[in-house]
Amino acid sequence: MLESLIRQEIQDKGPLSQSRFMDLALQHPQYGYYRSQEAVSRDFTTAPEISQMFGELVGAWSLDVYNKLQAPSHFSVVELGPGRGTLMADFLRVTQRDSNFMNALDLHLVETNLHLKRKQKENLPHAAQWWDRFEDVPDSPSPLLILANEFLDCLPTKAFVRRANVLYERCIDLQGDKLEFSLLPLKEDPGPDQMWEESPEADALMAQICKILLKRTGVFLCIDYGYESGEGLSLQALYHGEMSNPLCHIGTSDLTCHVSFSRLKDIAHSHGLKVLGPLPQGAFLKALGLTVRLDTLIRNNPSERTKLEMAALRLTHPQQMGILFKVMAVVSPPSLCPSGF
Ligand code: SAH
Repeated sequence: MLESLIRQEIQDKGPLSQSRFMDLALQHPQYGYYRSQEAVSRDFTTAPEISQMFGELVGAWSLDVYNKLQAPSHFSVVELGPGRGTLMADFLRVTQRDSNFMNALDLHLVETNLHLKRKQKENLPHAAQWWDRFEDVPDSPSPLLILANEFLDCLPTKAFVRRANVLYERCIDLQGDKLEFSLLPLKEDPGPDQMWEESPEADALMAQICKILLKRTGVFLCIDYGYESGEGLSLQALYHGEMSNPLCHIGTSDLTCHVSFSRLKDIAHSHGLKVLGPLPQGAFLKALGLTVRLDTLIRNNPSERTKLEMAALRLTHPQQMGILFKVMAVVSPPSLCPSGF
């Protein structure tokens, strides 16, 4: 169904930019991947779904940030794209030990997927408010913490190619009856041959987060897979856990792109904000005490030892999520020093 809408749009208006294609494939109100099904866990697994240790360590890290901010009487936590609510449930299990934090906590979840919203409501032991977009989260003077695990990678990107001094935009077009990638010449553009992606949505979100952090103080913790410098075309599709062609299974496969941490960092710096990282996920989790937490879990559940050890390895091993996934924090005021970096 979505594919025929896309074909129609190409016939009516010409080739689709990669960002328009991703937007339709992921967020079409009726047929988009992130609107029409539960998504997380079927086609891909995320760190919080691999082990409770992930959300627990983020919870402990957040408590530390809260206390370093002098334990304010009102504190907002905003999670972008909470999936099944697993990270937040594990997070709250840890923060529940601090009554100041729990009394101050004002929890906001940004989610477009109705199926996942329902799941989050079932899984969360704490009152929260749900919003479709970050800009809908109500303004407040209190400090805040914004969490995003594997959120920015599903925002649409535009793709560009510079070849022989000509700039092209990579588009999705019809070749006969088939959907294919094509290059649309934009202008003459002297410079080295290069390919790169840009995400106007991620840029705008980052700029908005920076303005809010400057006003309210707090931290944006972003965990995602990506590169430090944003070169190359990284659009990929996952269908039932396997890589697939992004132009097949439209609306039923997950589409993602690498996050350009250098780009996000530049935006934060241009707002005068301090940035920590990006640091490899493995190093960050170990600095937060993953090994100690693992030992405690094994002691309490000796029969689960192998499973727990495998999960810890998956989160931290350089050939698994340990290096490809990175952690970056944008911090306000600059005197605030969150742990782990
Ligand atoms: N953070 C979760 C889920 C990651 S998958 C985890 O780590 O398990 C991406 C999440 O972002 C899903 O919950 C998806 O529904 C949500 N999402 C994707 N695009 C979104 C958008 N543009 N606005 C709001 N939520 C979005």
